[in-house]
Amino acid sequence: MSSFDVIIIGSGPGGYVSAIRCAQLGFKTAIIEKYSTLGGTCLNVGCIPSKALLASSHYYSEIAHFADHGIEVSGEVKVNLEKMIARKQAVVDQTSGGVKFLMDKNKITVLEGLGSFVDSTHVAIAKADGTLETVEAKNIIIATGSKPSSLPFIKIDKERIITSTEALKLKEVPKHLVIIGGGVIGIELGQVYLRLGAQVSVVEFMDRIIPGMDASLSKELTKVLKKQGMKFYVSHKVKLVERKGDNVTVQAENAKGETITLECDYSLVSVGRRPFTDGLNADKAGVKISDHGQVEVNDHLQTNVPNIYAIGDVVRGAMLAHKAEEEGTMVAEIIAGQKPHIDYNLIPGVVYTWPEVAAVGQTEEQLKVSGVEFKSGSFPFKALGRARAGGDLDGFVKILADAKTDEVLGVHMIGARCADLIAEAVTAMEFKASAEDISRMSHAHPTFAEAIKEAALAATDNRALHV
Ligand SMILES: Cc1cc2nc3c(=O)[nH]c(=O)nc-3n(C[C@H](O)[C@H](O)[C@H](O)COP(=O)(O)OP(=O)(O)OC[C@H]3O[C@@H](n4cnc5c(N)ncnc54)[C@H](O)[C@@H]3O)c2cc1C
Repeated sequence: MSSFDVIIIGSGPGGYVSAIRCAQLGFKTAIIEKYSTLGGTCLNVGCIPSKALLASSHYYSEIAHFADHGIEVSGEVKVNLEKMIARKQAVVDQTSGGVKFLMDKNKITVLEGLGSFVDSTHVAIAKADGTLETVEAKNIIIATGSKPSSLPFIKIDKERIITSTEALKLKEVPKHLVIIGGGVIGIELGQVYLRLGAQVSVVEFMDRIIPGMDASLSKELTKVLKKQGMKFYVSHKVKLVERKGDNVTVQAENAKGETITLECDYSLVSVGRRPFTDGLNADKAGVKISDHGQVEVNDHLQTNVPNIYAIGDVVRGAMLAHKAEEEGTMVAEIIAGQKPHIDYNLIPGVVYTWPEVAAVGQTEEQLKVSGVEFKSGSFPFKALGRARAGGDLDGFVKILADAKTDEVLGVHMIGARCADLIAEAVTAMEFKASAEDISRMSHAHPTFAEAIKEAALAATDNRALHV
């Protein structure tokens, strides 16, 4: 029987990053993955393929603005969806191949098959050819991720009533796509198909889309997406999703009991994701699973069984690839006897629509609930030279700072390239910067990042320069 210092179950961004860090720290490491491709949800059916389709559809939608820039396109510009999806798959395959390369480079043993606990130090791997291999380890890290969840009355047939996984490989552009759930995944995929020519309607139970983010971001994103043609039915509870032939009927009810009926050819159910532990036999190792299906962990990502840890989507907290990666690194270092730390307040959240939406720290709503006195400074992108040069005028940066100490408590932004710009806010907050600190840093001109400096000036003493 093969024996390892650390075995990781699941090769998503949590699992594979953890494996690399374990190997760097000198541990004999193995990673178990039930699929033949490495990289988990993120690389195969999540972050990377969705960003590939967002990029392709963004290029297509930008053609509409070429004329403003003096670029004349003659002849018909058409979408070849099959080719677009094939390109996306090529990006996925190459990225997943990159993870395999990293496993080999770091001398990590890759074991393909479903991993199930035998006890707290042994894992059986059920292989595709029907054979079973049992391996042993001093430490085991559960990194089994998540799967799309649904509502009890919805039957996902993966053809017309679909999840994000199927939405990443449709064979045609829907005529009308009804998205159930206005969270990040639904909105991103909605914008892909909106750009490609679909009518897109979003039904959301809460009173706004991307409800976890600062309300000002929801408001601005809704405004921009409405301008692009997306329809929204917020504060509506979906009651029925029914397929008849190639058509799907979606019915939803508002607080007054009024019902709307939407007819479509595809309905994307994106109501969240559930932690995935099916087939893991966690009970055989004595590992506790919470009522929400999450593997229970302490602040050190340790389960109730001391040599078993868990990370990523399968444990509490934001279901984000970079959160899983941080936890993967942290757990490897804990096993090595180090004392790493994650500040969960500083894990940024991003929506990769265009304009992009990004945030870190506390929202206005959270600060109000916790009774913290704060001040706020905003700066609109349309006042930026760089935004005007490129024609990307939508959005703003908002900085929330402590009213007394001026420490930055939250940064919320929507606009061009915010997914990358948010890194400045994370860095500043990691070093406990004040709004004035940011406002006194030189920001290259003309850049989108100047909006951060200007918002910091606005928060410091209402002294933004360019409005
Ligand atoms: C459409 C979509 C877009 C997304 N976009 C983003 C984004 O832009 N940015 C971002 O941060 N996050 C994004 N996410 C979320 C991100 O994909 C997840 O947060 C991330 O993949 C979680 O990583 P993980 O390692 O915890 O688990 P996963 O990536 O889910 O990986 C778990 C792996 O474990 C394997 N596994 C499970 N059980 C077993 C078992 N018993 N034996 C062997 N193997 C097993 C699974 O097959 C899988 O490969 C997106 C998700 C979706 C669906």
